[in-house]
Amino acid sequence: MVSDKSKEIIKSGIEIQRSQKTPSISMPIKSGIEIQQKSSNEFSSISTPIKSGIEIQRSQKTPSISIPIKSGIEIHQQLDTHKLFCNCPSVLRNDESDFEIKRRLHAVAGESGEIDVAVKHEVLLDKEFIYQGYDTTCLVELDEEPPHLINQEALGIGLQIALLLNCEILPISQIMRKTVVDGSNTGGFQRTVLIARDGYVETNFGKVRIDNVSLEEDSARVVDRKKERVVYRLDRLGIPLIEIGTAPDINSPEQAKEVALYIGDILRSCNVRRGIGTIRQDVNISIEGHPRIEIKGFQDVKMFIPTIKKEVERQKDNIKKKKDLRSEVRNALPDGSSEFLRPMPGVARMYPETDLPLLKISREMINQAKKELPKLRSEIQGDLIKKGLREDEVKILLKRGEIDDFLSLLKLVDEPRFVFKILIELPKEISRHEGKDVLEILTVDVIESILNLIRTGELKKEDVKHVMEEMVRGKSFDDAVKVEKLESEEIEIEIAKLVKEKPGLSVGGYMGLIMQKFKGKVTGKEVNEILGKLMK
Ligand SMILES: [Zn+2]
Repeated sequence: MVSDKSKEIIKSGIEIQRSQKTPSISMPIKSGIEIQQKSSNEFSSISTPIKSGIEIQRSQKTPSISIPIKSGIEIHQQLDTHKLFCNCPSVLRNDESDFEIKRRLHAVAGESGEIDVAVKHEVLLDKEFIYQGYDTTCLVELDEEPPHLINQEALGIGLQIALLLNCEILPISQIMRKTVVDGSNTGGFQRTVLIARDGYVETNFGKVRIDNVSLEEDSARVVDRKKERVVYRLDRLGIPLIEIGTAPDINSPEQAKEVALYIGDILRSCNVRRGIGTIRQDVNISIEGHPRIEIKGFQDVKMFIPTIKKEVERQKDNIKKKKDLRSEVRNALPDGSSEFLRPMPGVARMYPETDLPLLKISREMINQAKKELPKLRSEIQGDLIKKGLREDEVKILLKRGEIDDFLSLLKLVDEPRFVFKILIELPKEISRHEGKDVLEILTVDVIESILNLIRTGELKKEDVKHVMEEMVRGKSFDDAVKVEKLESEEIEIEIAKLVKEKPGLSVGGYMGLIMQKFKGKVTGKEVNEILGKLMK
């Protein structure tokens, strides 16, 4: 039910999951960038020079770097499965909650005996947290029931992403709890498990290593924030996230953008959630002589370069003015600047999750993930263009998230142009004519059935539009197809009558009369065929 709904909404071009982002503390990696991309449509602009199948001409020369920096990215992407440690669906709710609970969190020292600096910062604010729950959340989200075993489907997707990033997969891993005290997790921690490491991606500026790939629980989302009281919704808490952290190998704002787009391409090739708020990206930046700064909350990948450039200027200024330099987390603002969010979390934040066994990833699981490894979107794009689809048409499919449907339909009738027409163009045209939304009627299943009849020769391509129109006007698929067959027989009879009534006309003469009589119901080609038969 959930996937049907999102499919339908994606089809009509509206973006789903307009969740509010919750600033969440990210894992302290050595250094990295994180981008916060708020739009899923970024990839219409993927023709920038990224490593990919269709790539134009990669120049031998390394492109020039505008500003030398040391930077890494961290990306969090929601996976399209149920929650990571319980069976609740990953649906965001905008209706009234079924219940609310109130909690406060208290700081305690970690294993090292110290209270984390970020923890102190939050606790000083002495906040009260309200959590809104639904019938689609359970006791696990409330931290009133132990976590269930890790979601195997999410793990499988995580393995695919790790393989596409050329990572080494860990055969055994300890699920960890990461202290989170902004209230975005009911238990005061977020579960996370490292599944792979030591990968890389190639860029035009050189290789960028992938330090870590982890599976994590998403946090609860903020619905209302006041000084002493924050209201969270539990719907997002526990949605599986894949977290990817690069090494600090990125040397320029341009390279940071390229890496983000390329990893985004890998993610979208796998079974991930789409739409605003489903991918969050952070960037870690430092110039020589300045401690690492993490910038979160990028509204758009396009803001990458301007934001990084502005941050470099800020860091230069800090050094010049001999300010008290410290590592901190900042929030990206729409104009490319950023504001202070909190001190950089320290290392005293992780401890083992004792409610769960060690995570074992078997050889079979890895082999299975390899067997089902998807093609990258950029490769698919190249393949489809080779088969005759135009670039803008491919982009429409990518944007609407219908590449998978398209590819499976292509297995029935291997004509990309025609399949595009009946999947995208005709429904759009009919919707305009009939003045209503037709996607609920002309579903992918219906289109599949139509293509099946075309494949077996039971339906002609030129009749597809009429069948679709009949369905939109209320006929069932079977009736619409039946009528179509009957009508073509009727048309033949009508044409025969006409030829008998008005003998001696030219083909063109009959054609004119017939086309007028059957306005729109019949194509010139069809009439021509029938006339050819009758006038032999
Ligand atoms: Zn649950």
